[in-house]
Amino acid sequence: MISIKDVKKIYSSKKGQVKAVDEVNLEIKEGEIFGVIGYSGAGKSTLIRMLNGLELPTQGSVTVAGNEVSKIKGSKLRKARQEISMIFQHFNLLWSRTVRENIAFPLEIAGVSRQERLKRVDELIKLVGLEGREDAYPSQLSGGQKQRVGIARALANNPKVLLCDEATSALDPQTTDSILELLVDINERLGLTIVLITHEMHVIRKICHRVAVMEGGKIVEIGPVLDVFKNP
Ligand code: ADP
Ligand code: ADP
Repeated sequence: MISIKDVKKIYSSKKGQVKAVDEVNLEIKEGEIFGVIGYSGAGKSTLIRMLNGLELPTQGSVTVAGNEVSKIKGSKLRKARQEISMIFQHFNLLWSRTVRENIAFPLEIAGVSRQERLKRVDELIKLVGLEGREDAYPSQLSGGQKQRVGIARALANNPKVLLCDEATSALDPQTTDSILELLVDINERLGLTIVLITHEMHVIRKICHRVAVMEGGKIVEIGPVLDVFKNP
């Protein structure tokens, strides 16, 4: 489902060059929940941003759901991105729009008819457990509810891959667990491939099938979670 080949990302500025991602090779299978863990500055955000074409690699290729996202541009990239959704630490919701309108937003952009949108939004609200909150504004929601809106919005166009950028880092432990349980449910029910980046071991242990440990732009360890984090 995801193939990262010989990827390097170098940021250049007046202050010099930063090797954010350095010679990374990675294959992620359909239906996998794959975690990337590492300290701040390890290159996790850069890596996940290359998976949906938000950043271009300096070298190498990135292919997601059959699209070489490191190569395509314009309308082709926009179309590919409908299959590669993302959720964020700070949710990135539209604050002047209701829950329903936030979730409908990517459907509007994709040109889905009003009648279809209403039906799809209702399904998504049920899927993420937000019944009764349809007409609330983001400011009226708890952190966990905001992330549920983020997840529903990300799933609106039936993506093949869900990217999670520190998606539970702004939440308390109990809310974190309920969001992680929702992600497992979605993975199992929809067969969605999930890639998440985090600095929290708990998140990896709770839901990931495999994990890569990043340090200084490189993957320094990779394998099933129980092998990588086995107790000595
Ligand atoms: P993270 O939580 O992933 O460490 P940061 O807070 O470091 O994120 O960075 C937030 C945003 O700023 C990201 O989009 C990242 O790409 C960008 N960024 C990080 N470091 C730099 C830098 N040295 N110069 C310019 N932009 C940066
Ligand atoms: P992580 O997500 O693991 O915290 P990042 O991918 O955000 O790591 O950052 C990796 C390195 O690249 C850091 O040294 C960071 O400062 C640098 N970096 C990230 N984004 C940018 C950017 N847009 N411009 C310059 N440097 C950046």
